[in-house]
Amino acid sequence: MIDLRSDTLSKPSKEMRKAMYEAETGDDGRIDSFGRSEDPTVRRLEDLSAEISGHEAALFCNSGTMANYIAILTHEAQRGDSILTDRSSHISRSEKGLFMEHLFGLTPEFYPVDDHGIPDSDAIENIVKNGQSRLLLLENTHNAYGGTCISVSKMKKLCAIARLYGAPVHLDGARIFNAAAYFDIDVKALTSPADSMMFCLSKGLGAPVGSMLCGDRDFIYRARKLRKILGGSMRQAGVIAAAGIVALEDAVEKSKVDHENALYLARNINTEYMKIDVDAVQTNIVIADISSSGRSAAHLVNELEQKGLRLQAISDTKVRMVTYKDISAEEIKKAVSIINNYFNNKYL
Ligand SMILES: *Cc1c(COP(=O)(O)O)cnc(C)c1O
Repeated sequence: MIDLRSDTLSKPSKEMRKAMYEAETGDDGRIDSFGRSEDPTVRRLEDLSAEISGHEAALFCNSGTMANYIAILTHEAQRGDSILTDRSSHISRSEKGLFMEHLFGLTPEFYPVDDHGIPDSDAIENIVKNGQSRLLLLENTHNAYGGTCISVSKMKKLCAIARLYGAPVHLDGARIFNAAAYFDIDVKALTSPADSMMFCLSKGLGAPVGSMLCGDRDFIYRARKLRKILGGSMRQAGVIAAAGIVALEDAVEKSKVDHENALYLARNINTEYMKIDVDAVQTNIVIADISSSGRSAAHLVNELEQKGLRLQAISDTKVRMVTYKDISAEEIKKAVSIINNYFNNKYL
């Protein structure tokens, strides 16, 4: 089975398992006199993440969702406050606890984006100028738009606008290393302009568990307290942090292989039945509109699964394919032939 549903399917490598086996551990739920984790491997991962992202400090979280929650609440968003995001961000679509009245009770305020999910800076300026929103959220790469990337100049511009009007910026950089690979730059250039940022170790980077929240020392100190209150403290977490350290080695370079595979896939299956905006295939995600195929996405997914290929239905008319380190170029070629054979047999 060639499984392209998500890069979250990536498996820990042999090197990661070895590092996990050998990891030195401590009680991550306890802090030393410097406010640091008592687990030495977690401390190493946090220091490495801070350095890579260009922030002073970092906090190991069990998931990206947990890291985003902690970030938004550490920025002191309170019940009734509005936070600025776009309608199709992961935070709007999946992290709903933030907006549930009986949970955190925040209100989303949506800014417009272009066809590739890139935020409109003039519209954002108008909203933050009027002082309605407590916090600006950005997503890079943009998951729902097919892994599209916000450039360094745009990131800087958006952060400068927010700062001018006193709104902090949190970057949901679940796949920020993919954006750095697309622009062929150091990830720091994209992550340092934001006040805080999150990235996932558990997606394209291939680690089994975890996301990192990065920010200044005081922010991370407060975030660590909040993580405990929310039940996100861990114990001998060095076992999983060790895999995260391995995941960060050459993260940008490794992503480039996945991007080549995604682009090859997109170019070779793009037909009227599987319409793909190839310009939007910048990183490791391919989204195809199958409206003209005369079948629902769920039906297509089911039929292709019987041929040995798994895709993800993301709406009635759209499917998503994601490449990651365990999917080889040969498997991508095979996926292309499974899809093309399927449509040729049905329609020609
Ligand atoms: C996956 C993802 C998250 C959440 O990460 P989890 O570890 O699944 O909770 C947040 N934002 C974006 C853009 C994502 O793709």
